[in-house]
Amino acid sequence: MQESNTLKYPYEDHPKPGTTMELAPGVRWLTMPMPGSLAHINLYLLEDKRGWYVVDTGIGNAETAELWHEIFRKELGGKPVIGVICTHMHPDHIGQSAMITEEFRCALHMTRAEYYQARSFANSGGSHHSSWLGQSFYTKAGMPDDYVEQLQKMWTQRSSEGMSMPTMPSGYERLEDGQVLTIGDHDWQIVVGSGHSPEHACLYCASLKIMISGDQILPIITSNVSVHPTEPNANPLKEWMDSHDRFLSTPDDTFVLPAHNLPFYGVRERLRGLISHHDDRMLAIEEACVAPQIAKDLLPVLFARELDPRQMMMALGEAIAHVHLLIHRNRIDRELHEDGRYRFRSIDPDLDRRAHPGQHDAPTDGPVMV
Ligand SMILES: [Zn+2]
Repeated sequence: MQESNTLKYPYEDHPKPGTTMELAPGVRWLTMPMPGSLAHINLYLLEDKRGWYVVDTGIGNAETAELWHEIFRKELGGKPVIGVICTHMHPDHIGQSAMITEEFRCALHMTRAEYYQARSFANSGGSHHSSWLGQSFYTKAGMPDDYVEQLQKMWTQRSSEGMSMPTMPSGYERLEDGQVLTIGDHDWQIVVGSGHSPEHACLYCASLKIMISGDQILPIITSNVSVHPTEPNANPLKEWMDSHDRFLSTPDDTFVLPAHNLPFYGVRERLRGLISHHDDRMLAIEEACVAPQIAKDLLPVLFARELDPRQMMMALGEAIAHVHLLIHRNRIDRELHEDGRYRFRSIDPDLDRRAHPGQHDAPTDGPVMV
């Protein structure tokens, strides 16, 4: 979503491809290209006495690898990369992790859930979407019988764009919540969030007042929070909302370095905005479900335009994530009908008092692919 807010952005533009920009002593920013409307991913370099740590790596295509080699030649002051830190397992973050760790024979640092999920998806591609689990998941959500075939074609296309899961380094160093990495003169604390991915690592430096937030906190777009066929009864939006509550203790003068959009100030305002955005979407769904609904028919409540098969997958995943948190809060119930599709129905007797139809945020244009 593009929403207006009063966050402060000290930099108007991203660094040019193949260059870096210093944001604080020992902290440099670079961007790599991304397909589609997102255009870039932001990556960061942290300077140690012996060399550099890379935070996130870009997608696994030849163009990004070439840009990295330009950075290695021109921007590292003759020092090597001594570690790769990946915030989470999505392809734009881990795509070059094998290339860089091979090139410098340095360690990959990730949380355990992210590393192993990346390795398992790297070995199976998108196939879980077309398995019987995928068929069952999408049928229950009200999708047509040929939808999994449409998805299969889409995955083939995505692979050709470099957005498939890359081969991962064969080992890693584990990051854990609360752990401190000393890099150069600064301590970086690992702060784990969840919901967008299972065990997403952010890095917080109190002395520099900087947080590298990955996709956990983005200033403009809202990260995708989806239920997938691999875990059809997951409740990722609960984890996402719980994480936001936790991150609200981040000092308000923190300079946030996100993976997409621009670095910004205003972390608490952004978190409050995201919490109220999801609360509003859930209330709109409750109002829609006064008459029982299938998941597919909830999409217009959340998204304004026609969606292609991949956008549909993200949008459905998000709609179901919102419904699952409502079920957890005992505000919606779910029943499997004879036609094989779930019906969702509002059951909170207090809904009349809370409802304000016609006053919700406008549906978002479409789901964002991060
Ligand atoms: Zn992501």
